[in-house]
Amino acid sequence: MKRLVTYVILMALFLTGCAAPADPDTAQESIQVIAMDTAMLITTYGEHSVTAAYAAEDVIRDLEAKLSRTDPDSEVSRLNAAGGETVSISQDTFALLRLAERCRMKTEGAFDITVAPLVAAWGFAGGEEYRVPSQEELDALLPLVDGSAVFTDSRSPEGEEYKTSGDYEGEWTCTAALEPGQAIDLGGIAKGCVSDLIVRVFQEYDIPRANVSLGGNVLAWGTRPDGAPWRVGIQDPARAEESGAYAGILELTDSFAVTSGGYQRYFEEDGKIYHHIIDPSTGCPADSGLTSVTVVADAFKTSQPWMGALCDAYSTALFVMGEEKALDFWRGCRDLEAEEPLFQLVLVTKDGRVLITEGLADRFTLGEDSGYAYEVVS
Ligand code: ADP
Ligand code: MG
Repeated sequence: MKRLVTYVILMALFLTGCAAPADPDTAQESIQVIAMDTAMLITTYGEHSVTAAYAAEDVIRDLEAKLSRTDPDSEVSRLNAAGGETVSISQDTFALLRLAERCRMKTEGAFDITVAPLVAAWGFAGGEEYRVPSQEELDALLPLVDGSAVFTDSRSPEGEEYKTSGDYEGEWTCTAALEPGQAIDLGGIAKGCVSDLIVRVFQEYDIPRANVSLGGNVLAWGTRPDGAPWRVGIQDPARAEESGAYAGILELTDSFAVTSGGYQRYFEEDGKIYHHIIDPSTGCPADSGLTSVTVVADAFKTSQPWMGALCDAYSTALFVMGEEKALDFWRGCRDLEAEEPLFQLVLVTKDGRVLITEGLADRFTLGEDSGYAYEVVS
């Protein structure tokens, strides 16, 4: 009898243990997703942490299927293979093409998705060998770089033309076309776009805190479980092979932090390094004196529904521009509603300096043994 009572008590404890609701602060899910040519890590907290983490994975898989350059069935591959013909595309791809064009105009061509034939010529499009193209080959490809020639159109079921850049309801028919010979590569903006869509997932599932790392694109959502900001390390470009070798650490909450650097994907030939960020004006890997650019912005910028994608495109563009132009660009980008800079920057230079724009000064710590000189810019 005594044994039976003990058993019943134990069972009762066990069952109540199972039935207790997940503690919203400690329930946690962490998943790794290999996609978009990189290893991604999604860590979510809260009651719906599991559902939200897998919904985030769905977002990544869905966008990869649309935008991949190596999958011949993707919308981007179909567009690139269409020889100038018009093809139908999804609303997501349409929105992204329009956004990429806005970024091209804003950055005066430093960001241009039609740089794709040059990315491929250097062997960075995936699948082919790395190589140094001849000047004749570059000269023949450079005229194809012209984002303004990319045609996009979206119509409502009533034939009404799409105008604003916000979200839109219902089934719109979207199309796009390139000039013959042109190709596009959304590698410089796609992961940022994914991070924007993941923000919407987190809002839908009421996720209190999360940390998402999409190969150079970080989303620091809420705070850490202990209430402190998330710590985001900025890889020291000079010690790219050492994980944990940081130029500095950012302390962030509710922010995107996107880094572009020449150390992420590169090859060496005859003692020279060639990396994957191409200057659309020369057709060659950008050589601007910067070794990395990190763009940091508020993940709740209501004036900018695609802030993550902007951070991604701008990190690539500012790396092409170099220090002086990048800082001028930063000064020119204001959030008119909040009356403050639209984003903040961490620039690492080839000559050993780390430049921080003033809005980040109290959220950045220089790596102790990094050897960099540190300057705050206003
Ligand atoms: P990563 O994708 O490695 O995080 P970036 O966001 O800087 O790095 O994007 C680099 C990718 O963007 C390249 O691999 C290429 O596909 C594409 N790209 C390279 N140069 C440009 C450019 N000037 N404008 C737009 N896209 C570019
Ligand atoms: Mg980018």
